[in-house]
Amino acid sequence: MSVFSHSRITSFENCPLQYRFRYIDGIKRDTQGIEAFMGKTVHAVLEDLYSDLERARASTAATYADLFSRFWQRDYTPDVKIVREGKTAEDYRRTGLECVRGFFDRHHPFRTGSVLGCEMKVEFALDDDGRYMMRGYVDRVDRVASGVIEIHDYKTGRMPSEGRLRGDRQLTLYEIALRDRWPWVREVRHVWHFLAHDKQVILSRDADDLRRARVMTIRRIKGIQATTRFPARKSALCSWCDYKDICPAWEEERSGWDGATAATGTVPIAPDVEPRTGQYLLF
Ligand code: SF4
Repeated sequence: MSVFSHSRITSFENCPLQYRFRYIDGIKRDTQGIEAFMGKTVHAVLEDLYSDLERARASTAATYADLFSRFWQRDYTPDVKIVREGKTAEDYRRTGLECVRGFFDRHHPFRTGSVLGCEMKVEFALDDDGRYMMRGYVDRVDRVASGVIEIHDYKTGRMPSEGRLRGDRQLTLYEIALRDRWPWVREVRHVWHFLAHDKQVILSRDADDLRRARVMTIRRIKGIQATTRFPARKSALCSWCDYKDICPAWEEERSGWDGATAATGTVPIAPDVEPRTGQYLLF
């Protein structure tokens, strides 16, 4: 039985052919977009910060900015792709540093609740029979009062409208998972940290929202499982796709494309489009 994830479903929604390459054909790629790399590095720093709050309380923002620089230097490789025209790795490194410093300054001394977990794995069934399984990783969960938890999500990309956040599926599914796991939970807040904007958005869901999310996600999974055709859906997001070099939709362009274009950051794309990965989802 396949276990689905929010990013797996999103991949299908963005482009069925990309879904097929990744999840059915299992084609692995070593490359990653620099936006995802920067986001992962920021996440790793915040995970480290929350792993020892006493140390974090006694530290300054510079401590974690240094940690970010060390992680960046350690993990950055030529396989990290820069797609946006005119942007350099240094631009992204600086943005990541600002994300870390801004978060530290806003939240120090980190006394808003007790941390129940960071990068917490959740695996749960959407239905009573366990036929529709989901898996995910929650950036952070805090208990802020008796029976009250907050699900925290760090974003390093653009900030969506509140309307889009109200329709967010990812944290709603995490809420379903955590309510199943902890029956003592009576109230859940979804907290998004838009780190590059130094903004925080807090929303909550009611029982109807949760029920709808279950039904809609099961329906989506059924649709994916019943699919036999996986057409290419060409869009500006193709610039971030791992499979552009083998995608038939780009065959014509490829005749004059040597595969180095994306790596050197010269692919023109619509400036208002955000790459949709698990970490940058806006829908
Ligand atoms: S390059 Fe574009 S059309 Fe082709 S598989 Fe990737 S996302 Fe789909």
